Amino acid sequence: MRTARGQTIERLCRNDPFDLLVIGGGATGCGTVLDAASRGLKTALIEKNDFAEGTSSRSTKLVHGGVRYLEMAIRGLDRAQYELVREGLHERALLLRNAPHLTRRLPLVIPLYTWTEVPYAFAGLKLYDLLAGRKGIGPSRLIGRAEALKRFPMLRAEGLKGGVLYHDGQFNDARTALALIATAQQEGALTLNHAEALSLVKQGGRIVGAVVRDRIGGAEFTLRAKGVINAAGPFVDSIRRMDEPEAAPLLEVSSGIHIVLDGRFAPPDAGLMIPRTDDGRLLFILPWQGHALIGTTDEPAQIDDHPIPRQEEIAYLLRHVRRYFSLDVTEKDILSSWSGLRPLLRDAGAADTARIVRDHLVEVSPSGLLTVTGGKWTTYRRMAQDTVDRAVETFGLAPPHPCRTENLPLAGAVGYREDGAKALMRGHGLDVGIASHLHRAYGSAADKVAALVREGLGERLHPDHPFIEAEVVYAVRHEQAERAADVLVRRTPLALLDRKGAAEAAPRTIEIMAEELGWDERRRRAEAELLDERLRTAL
Ligand SMILES: Cc1cc2nc3c(=O)[nH]c(=O)nc-3n(C[C@H](O)[C@H](O)[C@H](O)COP(=O)(O)OP(=O)(O)OC[C@H]3O[C@@H](n4cnc5c(N)ncnc54)[C@H](O)[C@@H]3O)c2cc1C
Repeated sequence: MRTARGQTIERLCRNDPFDLLVIGGGATGCGTVLDAASRGLKTALIEKNDFAEGTSSRSTKLVHGGVRYLEMAIRGLDRAQYELVREGLHERALLLRNAPHLTRRLPLVIPLYTWTEVPYAFAGLKLYDLLAGRKGIGPSRLIGRAEALKRFPMLRAEGLKGGVLYHDGQFNDARTALALIATAQQEGALTLNHAEALSLVKQGGRIVGAVVRDRIGGAEFTLRAKGVINAAGPFVDSIRRMDEPEAAPLLEVSSGIHIVLDGRFAPPDAGLMIPRTDDGRLLFILPWQGHALIGTTDEPAQIDDHPIPRQEEIAYLLRHVRRYFSLDVTEKDILSSWSGLRPLLRDAGAADTARIVRDHLVEVSPSGLLTVTGGKWTTYRRMAQDTVDRAVETFGLAPPHPCRTENLPLAGAVGYREDGAKALMRGHGLDVGIASHLHRAYGSAADKVAALVREGLGERLHPDHPFIEAEVVYAVRHEQAERAADVLVRRTPLALLDRKGAAEAAPRTIEIMAEELGWDERRRRAEAELLDERLRTAL
């Protein structure tokens, strides 16, 4: 059978050489492929696992200017840090506008337990508003003890003096990466997940492509391009070593874990930001998909595709939840957890990974490998713009259009209406939970997903969650899902919310995928084993 994947590989090989080949399908690579394709450049992207399977599906899911950078800016009177915050706030506004279905404005409460903290926290957040300027999404203000407890009823009341209320954005990170891929495809890009760059191809000392292995079918093929972009996140140094085996590392990585608790631990419409933990870091307790998302940590780590949250990191998060909440919490309350690796630019002077500035870097090697790294999800668009600008200059490209991404809605945004869930309920007979979920996850494409319900695919994959069978088929047909984990971790976030629930949903998910993709019994078993391994160890 000639599968859609087989056709994509054929098209990749037929269309070679490309103007640009992007290695890595996280926020950085997905943003870059969209920027390049929308300028009219012939662009391809390969990702060795699934899109956003690395750090980009394991973030705190905030679209933010960076309250912590602001604090560093104030303490260090550091202009560069202010600029970083301002840029983040500008990009925050663009993402909220260009992907309204995947983002929302989230009020956050900072609880204050001593009077001396009050003026400092308030002045800092007012400065945050000032830097956002007209792109602000809600004014910060002081709130009394009663309002803090009303907004966050599970907060520990003893000693609470009041709080500061401020606003940031919240988003669905994995589905934003998928929306970037879908939009890039609409702009003519070719993208392939589960396709690993094994080595770089050089001609006359210049990089002209990469040898790629299809990790699903096993075939190897070469893709040629005028320029190769290394957007491999924590793995950029391994790609740089394919170019120069002796290249000094650019990065060190630190791990940040999150745990997920049930909805009792966070009200649906407000988050909590703890400004100073035991070791002086920020901690967030956020509502997320009907659950509570708590994170994060910042510990030096080894590079790994699927890092495992460490016991000490879990204990650290639980300790802070207990300290700030009137609810008791134990390890048994944890429904899921995961670890992501921050690609941090090396800074010889900094002993502590939390102090390295999260700015981005664009570097070109003597043989023409363009590496982009650092930054944060919120600023992916700006990073992509800088990267493609540099690629145009370095590789002598002549794109028909200038950068267009500031005003380019992401897939699902055109035709999206705030009240669209009601139409889904009326038009497809969906219950409110399923309709609201589809509306937010797919935007204006939700109708296409819901239409599959008429094919008898309307059952929930798990009774406690709004994800339905139709999404599995949609993921395979339209979103390049190849593995059960692609569906249960990133097309839907079920495993990130509830690992046990994901294990229970696995047999039906695999059955639907097997039918769509023509899997035989052996492949079904292999998928079940692979997913089981992910759910038992690290997502
Ligand atoms: C715990 C944590 C919380 C965070 N929270 C936030 C937040 O709330 N808001 C925010 O704005 N930012 C946040 N960030 C930062 C943000 O998530 C990262 O900056 C961003 O996701 C990095 O994206 P990336 O594409 O550079 O890396 P990745 O997402 O890791 O993508 C790189 C990809 O390259 C692929 N790759 C590697 N080698 C190869 C190869 N040989 N061939 C093909 N593909 C390859 C990998 O498989 C991977 O998918 C957070 C980061 C962490 C760690």
